[in-house]
Amino acid sequence: MLLFNICDSLSFFSQTKTCPQCHNDDYQLQNHSRFLRFSIIPMLPLAWRYQYQCNHCQHSVQLSVMQLPWLEKLSLIKYFIGSILVIWLSIYLYTHHLDQLKTKQAILSQPQAFDTYLVHADKFSNQPLRPENLKVAQVLEFDDKNITFQISNYRYKHDRAITTAMRTSLLVQKDYFSSKTLTLTRKEVQHLYDEGAIYDVLRPYAYSLYGGFVMFPPQPKPLYEGVKLNKNNQQGIIYYKDGLFKDAFESFLLASKEGSQWGQLNAAQMYRDGEGVEKDLSQAIYWYQQAALQNNHKAKVQLKELCLEHAC
Ligand SMILES: [Zn+2]
Repeated sequence: MLLFNICDSLSFFSQTKTCPQCHNDDYQLQNHSRFLRFSIIPMLPLAWRYQYQCNHCQHSVQLSVMQLPWLEKLSLIKYFIGSILVIWLSIYLYTHHLDQLKTKQAILSQPQAFDTYLVHADKFSNQPLRPENLKVAQVLEFDDKNITFQISNYRYKHDRAITTAMRTSLLVQKDYFSSKTLTLTRKEVQHLYDEGAIYDVLRPYAYSLYGGFVMFPPQPKPLYEGVKLNKNNQQGIIYYKDGLFKDAFESFLLASKEGSQWGQLNAAQMYRDGEGVEKDLSQAIYWYQQAALQNNHKAKVQLKELCLEHAC
């Protein structure tokens, strides 16, 4: 029932007094004020009409608002509840709108890869104007001057179709975006936004927009970054764990000669300790040095220790 209607008010704080005319005790404060309401919510008072009335002799006296008991006066605010709500809601929506504009401008001024712009294709990328004129543009690269976009092969008539595409992770499908990219200066991008050719600016959160992926999560880094596992060194470790020191040493030595710093470290340790091979400190020092040259921290530490006891 979303209608404006006018309504009589009730008296909330009726007071009983003695009638000055007939001296009956049935002399009451009554409220016949009228107010405008929206559904059941009072918006504005239209007319104040408070009066004392005797239910016995019908004698009545009008009261001005100022003459009302203080509790009744305080309750007058109830007639404005709807208006107060409307004002509060307007302020809330307006500040929310300003915040959103601020966020969008911030995304525009400080672009990130995969920021997603919704654009009018005719103005943004000079494509012929068709009823399906909306496209998705995604930031690929940017520098101080330029921003490079990939633009969707798909065209849309309505904004909500784009939302659906995002929600169903269509943007990460192969061939969703054209392989042809578009590079614009930052100034041009700002201009396109100001004139409405870019009509929305979105930044993916957790790689998604509207709950669907709009970019692939970045590839996880390899576990042993920079260290290439050497087959012979790995085999040597297996032999060593099995107590086959001679075989282990031979594998480590092969790995060392192939340039594996871990193979060199392991071979050096076996030379130093005389495991699987006759103890040979000069060989140990040599292989430690080779590993240390490759910035192997462990080799550097052990070489330093060894050089405290022996001339290097
Ligand atoms: Zn009376």
